[in-house]
Amino acid sequence: MAIDPATRAEILKHVERLAREKVAPRAAEIDRSNAFPRDLYGEAGRLGLFGLWVPEEYGGIGPDLVTPLLVCECLSRASLTFALNVSNCGDAVTPIVLGGTEAAKRKFLPDIASGAIIPAFALSEPGGGSDAAAITTRAVRDGDDYVISGRKMWCTNGSVADVCTVFAKTDPQAGHKGVSAFVVPKGLRGFEVGQDEELMGLRGSPTSELIFDEVRVPAAYRLGGEGEGFKLAMATLDEARLNCSALAIGGAIAAFGQAVAYAKERRQFGKPIIEHQGLAFLLAEAASDIAAGRAIFREAIELLERGRSHEASTYAAMSKLVTSDMAMRVATQAVQVLGGNGLSRKYPVERIMRDVKAFQIFDGTNEIQKMVIGRNLAKWDLPFDEFKL
Ligand SMILES: Cc1cc2nc3c(=O)[nH]c(=O)nc-3n(C[C@H](O)[C@H](O)[C@H](O)COP(=O)(O)OP(=O)(O)OC[C@H]3O[C@@H](n4cnc5c(N)ncnc54)[C@H](O)[C@@H]3O)c2cc1C
Repeated sequence: MAIDPATRAEILKHVERLAREKVAPRAAEIDRSNAFPRDLYGEAGRLGLFGLWVPEEYGGIGPDLVTPLLVCECLSRASLTFALNVSNCGDAVTPIVLGGTEAAKRKFLPDIASGAIIPAFALSEPGGGSDAAAITTRAVRDGDDYVISGRKMWCTNGSVADVCTVFAKTDPQAGHKGVSAFVVPKGLRGFEVGQDEELMGLRGSPTSELIFDEVRVPAAYRLGGEGEGFKLAMATLDEARLNCSALAIGGAIAAFGQAVAYAKERRQFGKPIIEHQGLAFLLAEAASDIAAGRAIFREAIELLERGRSHEASTYAAMSKLVTSDMAMRVATQAVQVLGGNGLSRKYPVERIMRDVKAFQIFDGTNEIQKMVIGRNLAKWDLPFDEFKL
Protein backbone atom coordinates (compact mmCIF):
# COMPACT_ATOMS: atom_id res chain seq x y z
CA MET A 1 0.00 0.00 0.00
CA ALA A 2 1.52 3.34 -1.04
CA ILE A 3 1.28 6.03 1.62
CA ASP A 4 -0.49 9.19 0.46
CA PRO A 5 1.53 12.43 0.26
CA ALA A 6 -0.24 14.12 3.20
CA THR A 7 0.42 11.18 5.54
CA ARG A 8 4.01 11.00 4.28
CA ALA A 9 4.54 14.71 5.00
CA GLU A 10 3.09 14.28 8.50
CA ILE A 11 5.37 11.29 9.23
CA LEU A 12 8.41 13.21 7.96
CA LYS A 13 7.58 16.19 10.17
CA HIS A 14 7.71 13.92 13.24
CA VAL A 15 10.89 12.21 12.00
CA GLU A 16 12.62 15.56 11.45
CA ARG A 17 11.76 16.56 15.00
CA LEU A 18 13.00 13.23 16.38
CA ALA A 19 16.24 13.61 14.39
CA ARG A 20 16.83 17.19 15.49
CA GLU A 21 15.79 16.99 19.12
CA LYS A 22 16.70 13.46 20.19
CA VAL A 23 19.01 11.76 17.70
CA ALA A 24 21.50 14.49 16.72
CA PRO A 25 22.42 15.35 20.33
CA ARG A 26 23.14 11.65 20.97
CA ALA A 27 25.09 10.82 17.79
CA ALA A 28 28.61 11.33 19.21
CA GLU A 29 27.79 9.42 22.41
CA ILE A 30 26.31 6.48 20.46
CA ASP A 31 29.55 6.32 18.44
CA ARG A 32 31.77 6.57 21.55
CA SER A 33 29.87 4.02 23.61
CA ASN A 34 29.23 1.68 20.67
CA ALA A 35 25.92 0.88 22.38
CA PHE A 36 22.64 0.21 20.54
CA PRO A 37 20.29 3.13 21.41
CA ARG A 38 17.33 1.03 22.55
CA ASP A 39 15.42 4.03 23.91
CA LEU A 40 15.59 5.79 20.54
CA TYR A 41 14.51 2.58 18.79
CA GLY A 42 11.48 2.69 21.09
CA GLU A 43 10.80 6.31 20.04
CA ALA A 44 10.90 5.23 16.39
CA GLY A 45 8.43 2.46 17.26
CA ARG A 46 6.08 4.94 18.95
CA LEU A 47 6.14 7.05 15.77
CA GLY A 48 5.07 3.95 13.84
CA LEU A 49 8.18 3.89 11.66
CA PHE A 50 8.56 0.09 11.64
CA GLY A 51 4.98 -0.19 10.41
CA LEU A 52 6.16 1.36 7.12
CA TRP A 53 7.35 -2.09 6.01
CA VAL A 54 4.35 -4.00 7.36
CA PRO A 55 0.88 -4.33 5.74
CA GLU A 56 -2.15 -2.87 7.51
CA GLU A 57 -3.73 -6.24 8.32
CA TYR A 58 -0.65 -7.09 10.42
CA GLY A 59 -0.46 -3.81 12.33
CA GLY A 60 1.49 -1.63 9.91
CA ILE A 61 0.74 1.16 7.41
CA GLY A 62 2.79 -0.19 4.49
CA PRO A 63 4.57 -1.56 2.73
CA ASP A 64 5.56 1.67 1.04
CA LEU A 65 8.69 2.23 -1.03
CA VAL A 66 9.33 5.95 -0.81
CA THR A 67 8.48 6.92 2.78
CA PRO A 68 11.06 4.63 4.49
CA LEU A 69 13.75 5.97 2.13
CA LEU A 70 12.92 9.57 3.02
CA VAL A 71 12.78 8.67 6.73
CA CYS A 72 16.19 7.02 6.43
CA GLU A 73 17.71 9.99 4.60
CA CYS A 74 16.38 12.36 7.26
CA LEU A 75 17.63 10.27 10.20
CA SER A 76 21.02 9.71 8.59
CA ARG A 77 21.75 13.44 8.58
CA ALA A 78 21.61 13.23 12.38
CA SER A 79 23.19 9.79 12.95
CA LEU A 80 24.07 7.21 10.33
CA THR A 81 24.11 4.55 13.01
CA PHE A 82 20.57 5.29 14.15
CA ALA A 83 19.31 5.50 10.58
CA LEU A 84 20.69 1.98 10.06
CA ASN A 85 19.31 0.74 13.42
CA VAL A 86 15.86 1.67 12.10
CA SER A 87 16.05 0.98 8.37
CA ASN A 88 17.54 -2.50 8.79
CA CYS A 89 14.00 -3.54 9.69
CA GLY A 90 13.12 -3.39 5.97
CA ASP A 91 15.65 -6.08 4.96
CA ALA A 92 14.59 -8.39 7.78
CA VAL A 93 10.84 -8.02 7.52
CA THR A 94 10.26 -8.05 3.74
CA PRO A 95 10.93 -11.82 3.34
CA ILE A 96 8.37 -12.45 6.13
CA VAL A 97 5.81 -10.19 4.41
CA LEU A 98 6.44 -11.82 1.01
CA GLY A 99 6.87 -15.44 2.03
CA GLY A 100 5.56 -15.96 5.57
CA THR A 101 2.72 -18.35 6.39
CA GLU A 102 -0.37 -16.71 7.88
CA ALA A 103 0.65 -18.11 11.30
CA ALA A 104 4.17 -16.62 11.06
CA LYS A 105 2.87 -13.25 9.89
CA ARG A 106 0.29 -13.08 12.71
CA LYS A 107 2.90 -14.09 15.28
CA PHE A 108 5.73 -11.73 14.35
CA LEU A 109 4.62 -8.81 12.17
CA PRO A 110 2.42 -6.85 14.65
CA ASP A 111 5.20 -6.78 17.27
CA ILE A 112 7.82 -5.86 14.66
CA ALA A 113 5.55 -3.04 13.41
CA SER A 114 5.16 -1.59 16.91
CA GLY A 115 8.87 -1.84 17.69
CA ALA A 116 8.18 -4.27 20.55
CA ILE A 117 10.49 -6.81 18.92
CA ILE A 118 13.55 -6.21 16.73
CA PRO A 119 14.20 -8.22 13.55
CA ALA A 120 17.55 -9.01 11.86
CA PHE A 121 18.57 -10.39 8.46
CA ALA A 122 21.01 -13.30 8.55
CA LEU A 123 22.44 -14.31 5.19
CA SER A 124 26.22 -13.70 5.27
CA GLU A 125 28.61 -16.29 6.65
CA PRO A 126 32.39 -16.63 7.08
CA GLY A 127 32.60 -18.46 3.72
CA GLY A 128 29.64 -16.81 1.98
CA GLY A 129 29.76 -13.02 1.58
CA SER A 130 29.63 -11.70 -1.98
CA ASP A 131 29.03 -15.28 -3.06
CA ALA A 132 25.84 -15.75 -1.05
CA ALA A 133 25.08 -19.08 -2.73
CA ALA A 134 28.19 -20.48 -0.98
CA ILE A 135 26.54 -20.41 2.46
CA THR A 136 26.84 -23.69 4.34
CA THR A 137 24.21 -23.29 7.09
CA ARG A 138 21.96 -26.35 6.78
CA ALA A 139 18.25 -26.82 7.41
CA VAL A 140 17.19 -30.47 7.51
CA ARG A 141 13.52 -31.43 7.52
CA ASP A 142 12.54 -33.61 10.49
CA GLY A 143 8.78 -34.25 10.74
CA ASP A 144 6.98 -30.96 11.28
CA ASP A 145 10.23 -29.12 11.95
CA TYR A 146 13.49 -28.11 10.35
CA VAL A 147 16.75 -28.50 12.24
CA ILE A 148 19.12 -25.60 11.49
CA SER A 149 22.90 -25.70 12.05
CA GLY A 150 25.53 -23.18 11.01
CA ARG A 151 27.10 -19.81 11.73
CA LYS A 152 26.10 -16.39 10.43
CA MET A 153 28.25 -13.25 10.45
CA TRP A 154 27.78 -9.51 10.04
CA CYS A 155 24.11 -9.51 11.06
CA THR A 156 23.03 -5.91 11.67
CA ASN A 157 21.08 -5.69 14.96
CA GLY A 158 21.87 -9.42 15.39
CA SER A 159 22.73 -9.34 19.10
CA VAL A 160 19.77 -7.13 20.04
CA ALA A 161 17.26 -8.81 17.73
CA ASP A 162 14.36 -10.91 18.98
CA VAL A 163 13.71 -12.63 15.69
CA CYS A 164 15.91 -13.35 12.66
CA THR A 165 15.27 -14.04 8.99
CA VAL A 166 17.75 -16.85 8.41
CA PHE A 167 18.88 -18.33 5.09
CA ALA A 168 19.97 -21.97 5.06
CA LYS A 169 20.54 -24.73 2.54
CA THR A 170 17.79 -27.35 2.33
CA ASP A 171 19.51 -28.89 -0.71
CA PRO A 172 23.28 -28.35 -0.59
CA GLN A 173 23.77 -29.77 -4.11
CA ALA A 174 21.42 -27.26 -5.76
CA GLY A 175 23.47 -24.03 -5.44
CA HIS A 176 21.31 -20.96 -4.89
CA LYS A 177 18.20 -23.01 -5.74
CA GLY A 178 18.90 -25.06 -2.60
CA VAL A 179 18.57 -22.06 -0.25
CA SER A 180 15.45 -21.70 1.92
CA ALA A 181 14.48 -18.92 4.34
CA PHE A 182 13.12 -19.19 7.87
CA VAL A 183 11.92 -16.85 10.54
CA VAL A 184 13.70 -17.90 13.72
CA PRO A 185 12.85 -16.38 17.13
CA LYS A 186 15.58 -16.04 19.74
CA GLY A 187 15.19 -18.28 22.75
CA LEU A 188 14.96 -21.49 20.76
CA ARG A 189 17.36 -24.10 22.15
CA GLY A 190 20.70 -24.02 20.33
CA PHE A 191 20.33 -20.43 18.99
CA GLU A 192 23.14 -18.31 20.44
CA VAL A 193 24.60 -14.88 19.82
CA GLY A 194 28.37 -14.90 19.26
CA GLN A 195 30.66 -11.89 19.07
CA ASP A 196 29.71 -8.38 17.95
CA GLU A 197 32.33 -6.99 15.54
CA GLU A 198 34.39 -3.98 16.65
CA LEU A 199 33.93 -1.79 13.57
CA MET A 200 35.64 1.49 12.62
CA GLY A 201 32.26 3.05 11.83
CA LEU A 202 28.54 2.66 12.39
CA ARG A 203 29.39 2.11 16.03
CA GLY A 204 26.20 1.51 18.01
CA SER A 205 24.85 -0.66 15.19
CA PRO A 206 25.58 -4.19 16.44
CA THR A 207 27.11 -6.34 13.68
CA SER A 208 26.85 -9.81 15.10
CA GLU A 209 27.71 -13.44 14.78
CA LEU A 210 24.76 -15.81 15.22
CA ILE A 211 25.27 -19.49 15.99
CA PHE A 212 22.73 -22.23 15.23
CA ASP A 213 23.44 -25.56 16.86
CA GLU A 214 20.67 -27.94 15.83
CA VAL A 215 17.94 -25.32 16.29
CA ARG A 216 14.51 -26.89 15.83
CA VAL A 217 12.20 -24.54 13.90
CA PRO A 218 8.56 -25.32 13.01
CA ALA A 219 8.00 -25.87 9.27
CA ALA A 220 5.34 -23.15 9.51
CA TYR A 221 8.22 -20.68 10.00
CA ARG A 222 9.67 -21.44 6.56
CA LEU A 223 9.34 -18.41 4.26
CA GLY A 224 8.19 -19.34 0.77
CA GLY A 225 8.68 -22.83 -0.60
CA GLU A 226 11.76 -24.98 -0.17
CA GLY A 227 14.47 -23.55 -2.41
CA GLU A 228 12.82 -20.10 -2.65
CA GLY A 229 15.06 -18.45 -0.05
CA PHE A 230 17.51 -16.96 -2.51
CA LYS A 231 14.65 -15.45 -4.52
CA LEU A 232 13.28 -13.89 -1.30
CA ALA A 233 16.73 -12.51 -0.40
CA MET A 234 17.06 -11.04 -3.89
CA ALA A 235 13.54 -9.56 -3.64
CA THR A 236 14.74 -7.33 -0.80
CA LEU A 237 17.85 -6.20 -2.66
CA ASP A 238 16.56 -3.35 -4.85
CA GLU A 239 14.99 -1.67 -1.82
CA ALA A 240 18.05 -2.43 0.33
CA ARG A 241 20.34 -0.81 -2.24
CA LEU A 242 18.15 2.28 -2.39
CA ASN A 243 18.15 2.37 1.40
CA CYS A 244 21.94 2.29 1.26
CA SER A 245 21.76 5.26 -1.14
CA ALA A 246 19.50 7.13 1.29
CA LEU A 247 22.04 6.56 4.07
CA ALA A 248 24.92 7.67 1.83
CA ILE A 249 23.15 10.83 0.68
CA GLY A 250 22.13 11.78 4.24
CA GLY A 251 25.70 11.26 5.46
CA ALA A 252 27.16 13.26 2.57
CA ILE A 253 24.76 16.16 3.16
CA ALA A 254 25.61 16.22 6.87
CA ALA A 255 29.37 16.26 6.19
CA PHE A 256 28.99 18.87 3.45
CA GLY A 257 26.88 21.14 5.70
CA GLN A 258 29.56 21.02 8.39
CA ALA A 259 32.29 21.75 5.87
CA VAL A 260 30.55 24.78 4.35
CA ALA A 261 29.72 26.26 7.76
CA TYR A 262 33.32 25.79 8.90
CA ALA A 263 34.76 27.23 5.68
CA LYS A 264 32.69 30.41 6.08
CA GLU A 265 33.79 30.83 9.69
CA ARG A 266 37.46 29.84 9.63
CA ARG A 267 39.84 32.59 8.48
CA GLN A 268 43.35 32.10 7.10
CA PHE A 269 45.48 34.57 5.12
CA GLY A 270 43.09 37.36 6.15
CA LYS A 271 39.81 35.94 4.80
CA PRO A 272 37.36 33.05 5.28
CA ILE A 273 38.89 29.90 3.78
CA ILE A 274 35.84 29.49 1.48
CA GLU A 275 37.10 32.59 -0.35
CA HIS A 276 40.30 30.78 -1.33
CA GLN A 277 39.56 29.37 -4.74
CA GLY A 278 41.41 26.09 -4.10
CA LEU A 279 39.09 25.31 -1.21
CA ALA A 280 35.93 26.65 -2.86
CA PHE A 281 36.60 24.24 -5.73
CA LEU A 282 36.62 21.33 -3.29
CA LEU A 283 33.21 22.39 -1.97
CA ALA A 284 31.89 23.05 -5.46
CA GLU A 285 32.84 19.50 -6.44
CA ALA A 286 31.19 18.10 -3.33
CA ALA A 287 27.94 20.04 -3.93
CA SER A 288 27.81 18.84 -7.55
CA ASP A 289 28.60 15.29 -6.49
CA ILE A 290 25.70 15.27 -4.00
CA ALA A 291 23.28 16.72 -6.56
CA ALA A 292 24.28 14.09 -9.14
CA GLY A 293 23.90 11.31 -6.55
CA ARG A 294 20.44 12.53 -5.60
CA ALA A 295 19.40 12.62 -9.25
CA ILE A 296 20.24 8.98 -9.89
CA PHE A 297 18.66 8.02 -6.55
CA ARG A 298 15.39 9.74 -7.57
CA GLU A 299 15.44 8.10 -10.98
CA ALA A 300 16.01 4.66 -9.43
CA ILE A 301 13.08 5.21 -7.04
CA GLU A 302 10.81 6.29 -9.88
CA LEU A 303 11.65 3.17 -11.87
CA LEU A 304 11.08 0.84 -8.92
CA GLU A 305 7.79 2.58 -8.10
CA ARG A 306 6.59 1.49 -11.55
CA GLY A 307 7.29 -2.14 -10.62
CA ARG A 308 10.11 -4.65 -10.57
CA SER A 309 12.11 -4.82 -13.79
CA HIS A 310 15.66 -5.42 -14.92
CA GLU A 311 15.85 -1.69 -15.55
CA ALA A 312 14.83 -0.86 -11.97
CA SER A 313 17.38 -3.35 -10.62
CA THR A 314 20.11 -1.89 -12.81
CA TYR A 315 19.30 1.60 -11.57
CA ALA A 316 19.16 0.46 -7.93
CA ALA A 317 22.66 -0.99 -8.34
CA MET A 318 23.88 2.15 -10.13
CA SER A 319 22.37 4.35 -7.42
CA LYS A 320 24.07 2.34 -4.67
CA LEU A 321 27.41 2.41 -6.50
CA VAL A 322 27.33 6.13 -7.33
CA THR A 323 25.98 7.42 -4.01
CA SER A 324 28.19 5.33 -1.73
CA ASP A 325 31.32 6.34 -3.66
CA MET A 326 30.07 9.93 -3.62
CA ALA A 327 29.52 9.85 0.17
CA MET A 328 33.04 8.52 0.74
CA ARG A 329 34.51 11.32 -1.44
CA VAL A 330 32.40 14.07 0.13
CA ALA A 331 33.10 12.94 3.71
CA THR A 332 36.85 12.80 2.97
CA GLN A 333 36.71 16.28 1.42
CA ALA A 334 34.80 17.57 4.47
CA VAL A 335 37.58 16.30 6.74
CA GLN A 336 40.07 18.11 4.48
CA VAL A 337 38.14 21.38 4.72
CA LEU A 338 38.28 21.27 8.52
CA GLY A 339 42.08 20.78 8.51
CA GLY A 340 43.33 19.42 11.85
CA ASN A 341 39.85 19.80 13.30
CA GLY A 342 38.61 17.39 10.66
CA LEU A 343 40.40 14.59 12.49
CA SER A 344 39.14 15.68 15.90
CA ARG A 345 36.25 13.97 17.66
CA LYS A 346 35.02 17.49 18.54
CA TYR A 347 33.55 17.66 15.02
CA PRO A 348 31.25 15.06 13.43
CA VAL A 349 32.98 14.82 10.05
CA GLU A 350 35.54 12.21 11.13
CA ARG A 351 32.68 10.03 12.41
CA ILE A 352 30.77 10.42 9.16
CA MET A 353 33.89 9.50 7.18
CA ARG A 354 34.28 6.32 9.28
CA ASP A 355 30.57 5.52 8.94
CA VAL A 356 30.11 5.95 5.19
CA LYS A 357 32.86 3.48 4.28
CA ALA A 358 30.47 0.62 5.07
CA PHE A 359 28.10 1.71 2.29
CA GLN A 360 30.67 0.69 -0.33
CA ILE A 361 30.63 -2.78 1.24
CA PHE A 362 27.23 -3.94 2.47
CA ASP A 363 24.14 -4.80 0.42
CA GLY A 364 26.63 -6.10 -2.14
CA THR A 365 30.08 -4.53 -2.44
CA ASN A 366 30.53 -1.92 -5.15
CA GLU A 367 32.42 -4.49 -7.22
CA ILE A 368 29.30 -6.68 -7.04
CA GLN A 369 27.14 -3.70 -8.12
CA LYS A 370 29.38 -3.35 -11.18
CA MET A 371 28.96 -7.07 -11.88
CA VAL A 372 25.16 -6.70 -11.67
CA ILE A 373 25.14 -3.63 -13.92
CA GLY A 374 27.54 -5.23 -16.40
CA ARG A 375 25.56 -8.47 -16.49
CA ASN A 376 22.33 -6.56 -17.16
CA LEU A 377 24.01 -4.52 -19.89
CA ALA A 378 25.05 -7.75 -21.58
CA LYS A 379 21.49 -9.12 -21.44
CA TRP A 380 19.30 -6.08 -22.07
CA ASP A 381 19.35 -2.76 -23.88
CA LEU A 382 21.00 0.22 -22.23
CA PRO A 383 18.61 1.49 -19.52
CA PHE A 384 18.47 5.00 -20.94
CA ASP A 385 15.51 4.60 -23.32
CA GLU A 386 13.23 6.92 -21.42
CA PHE A 387 15.66 9.79 -20.95
CA LYS A 388 13.72 13.02 -21.54
CA LEU A 389 14.60 16.67 -21.17
C1 LIG B 1 28.38 -2.92 8.68
C2 LIG B 1 27.95 -4.17 7.99
C3 LIG B 1 26.65 -4.62 8.14
C4 LIG B 1 26.23 -5.80 7.51
N1 LIG B 1 24.95 -6.26 7.73
C5 LIG B 1 24.59 -7.47 7.24
C6 LIG B 1 23.31 -8.04 7.58
O1 LIG B 1 22.50 -7.43 8.30
N2 LIG B 1 23.03 -9.29 7.14
C7 LIG B 1 23.89 -10.00 6.34
O2 LIG B 1 23.55 -11.11 5.96
N3 LIG B 1 25.08 -9.46 5.98
C8 LIG B 1 25.46 -8.23 6.41
N4 LIG B 1 26.69 -7.69 6.09
C9 LIG B 1 27.61 -8.46 5.25
C10 LIG B 1 27.85 -7.85 3.90
O3 LIG B 1 26.73 -8.03 3.08
C11 LIG B 1 29.14 -8.50 3.35
O4 LIG B 1 30.22 -7.99 4.11
C12 LIG B 1 29.33 -8.20 1.88
O5 LIG B 1 28.37 -8.86 1.11
C13 LIG B 1 30.73 -8.61 1.40
O6 LIG B 1 31.04 -9.91 1.80
P1 LIG B 1 32.45 -10.22 2.51
O7 LIG B 1 32.61 -9.24 3.62
O8 LIG B 1 32.49 -11.66 2.83
O9 LIG B 1 33.54 -9.85 1.43
P2 LIG B 1 34.04 -10.80 0.24
O10 LIG B 1 32.89 -11.36 -0.50
O11 LIG B 1 35.05 -11.74 0.77
O12 LIG B 1 34.77 -9.75 -0.69
C14 LIG B 1 36.08 -9.25 -0.43
C15 LIG B 1 36.48 -8.33 -1.59
O13 LIG B 1 36.48 -9.10 -2.81
C16 LIG B 1 35.65 -8.47 -3.77
N5 LIG B 1 35.01 -9.49 -4.62
C17 LIG B 1 34.36 -10.62 -4.22
N6 LIG B 1 33.91 -11.29 -5.30
C18 LIG B 1 34.25 -10.56 -6.39
C19 LIG B 1 34.06 -10.71 -7.80
N7 LIG B 1 33.39 -11.74 -8.30
N8 LIG B 1 34.57 -9.76 -8.63
C20 LIG B 1 35.23 -8.68 -8.12
N9 LIG B 1 35.46 -8.49 -6.81
C21 LIG B 1 34.96 -9.41 -5.96
C22 LIG B 1 34.62 -7.70 -2.96
O14 LIG B 1 34.03 -6.66 -3.71
C23 LIG B 1 35.47 -7.20 -1.80
O15 LIG B 1 36.14 -6.03 -2.18
C24 LIG B 1 27.12 -6.50 6.68
C25 LIG B 1 28.43 -6.02 6.50
C26 LIG B 1 28.84 -4.88 7.14
C27 LIG B 1 30.26 -4.39 6.94
